[in-house]
Amino acid sequence: MRIILIGPPGAGKGTQSQRLVELLGVPHLSTGEMLRAAVRAGTPEGVEAATYMEQGHLVPDAIIVGMVRRRLQAPDCRGGCLLDGFPRTRHQAEILDDLLERLAMTVDGVIELAVPRDELIRRMLARKREDDDPEIFAKRITSFEVQTAPLLDYYGQQGKLASIDGLGTADEIFERVKEAVRRFERSARGL
Ligand code: ADP
Repeated sequence: MRIILIGPPGAGKGTQSQRLVELLGVPHLSTGEMLRAAVRAGTPEGVEAATYMEQGHLVPDAIIVGMVRRRLQAPDCRGGCLLDGFPRTRHQAEILDDLLERLAMTVDGVIELAVPRDELIRRMLARKREDDDPEIFAKRITSFEVQTAPLLDYYGQQGKLASIDGLGTADEIFERVKEAVRRFERSARGL
């Protein structure tokens, strides 16, 4: 299974991703984590990316696309993967389609974790991660609404989107995630 997980910052993608990769036995491709690792390692890509991330802006495609391409080509991604944090824009979705086509791969399904803005702010205030400056966090939500939400239509039109309610306990939400995966499996088998 090759699945994309989409959700605003604070939607709980981290928790659900961990459970989902365990269930599917596929690698977790999180561009946020790849970028944070590059920043920590002080690579040229990391140094450039940091200036954007600190401001709550998207990192330029040139950096992201190279990272994702290298990862998708790795042997452990042959049988599938969970894409988390990429694609984040319509343009990135088109780049991904192109990359996958070259690798003779497809996207089986897209899961949206839907959480209202006021709940995201409430969660952020409660958890206080170090990159959670309230103003920057609000910017990241706006960037999601403006740049990433249009992707939902893109995948909806392809019949690949499962929008699930991101409110509830982690267990309740994971039940919904599994239901979406079963749906993707049925449509992959042409049922
Ligand atoms: P969140 O989903 O909480 O916004 P992530 O961990 O996915 O956080 O990403 C952290 C930051 O890394 C983003 O705010 C952005 O600056 C950068 N980033 C991650 N993925 C992408 C991407 N696909 N395109 C551009 N920038 C990205």
